Amino acid sequence: MFSRMASRISTQWRKLGEHLPSQCAVCRAWPAQRVCDACAARFAPPRRRCDRCAGLLAAPVQRCGACLREPPPLDACIAAVEYAYPWTGALGEFKFRGDPGWAGALATLVRSTPWAEPALEAADLVLPIPLSHARLRTRGFNQALLLARLLAPAKTDAALLLRTHDTEAQSHLTRAQRLRNLRGAFAVEPLRARQLQGTRVLLVDDVMTTGATLHAAALALRQAGAAHITGLVVARTERRD
Ligand SMILES: [Zn+2]
Ligand SMILES: [Zn+2]
Repeated sequence: MFSRMASRISTQWRKLGEHLPSQCAVCRAWPAQRVCDACAARFAPPRRRCDRCAGLLAAPVQRCGACLREPPPLDACIAAVEYAYPWTGALGEFKFRGDPGWAGALATLVRSTPWAEPALEAADLVLPIPLSHARLRTRGFNQALLLARLLAPAKTDAALLLRTHDTEAQSHLTRAQRLRNLRGAFAVEPLRARQLQGTRVLLVDDVMTTGATLHAAALALRQAGAAHITGLVVARTERRD
């Protein structure tokens, strides 16, 4: 199964190369797409991950012990890669400069991940994790929205899930502190809440650290009646809690 996925990833990267600069950003191979086939195979190998939290699994099981003991608010979670070289640099350039070349490359990376395409197809709604108004003003764009639009243009809705207050600078906080910090940070647009009744929602973000952000958003969506919620992220850090 993994070799089939690897060849699919390679095909996806090739398709992407038709629209991108002709040097690999990782190994500088030339001619190549933004990330060449060899680097994609080397740095984005398919990994066995928990179906509820996308944490890496050592054994061939479906779910990690933590999620078995205490199921998280997400029904499923998919991560393309670990938050490590070269993706940390790629995500940084994408997030802070809005580099459109990286947006396409990262969307391809996500699309090539096992279970991502079926999840995109099954979703009724694809919702980017929203930024606060203040953060949106300083950055000028929402990186999760750029990704969502590339992944599912017809299903992406950026006006249904709202950020009610700013919760930035969370990196030094523990998971419990982040959860407290995020309580009430998301809300569903009140006039449109009924549209969520019984729907399958795909929540998109660039990086998942503890999962606290995705979980807080999922709780708001669940409260509004969403029936099934999947998280889809480019990169996931190792669990730290
Ligand atoms: Zn390369
Ligand atoms: Zn898990």
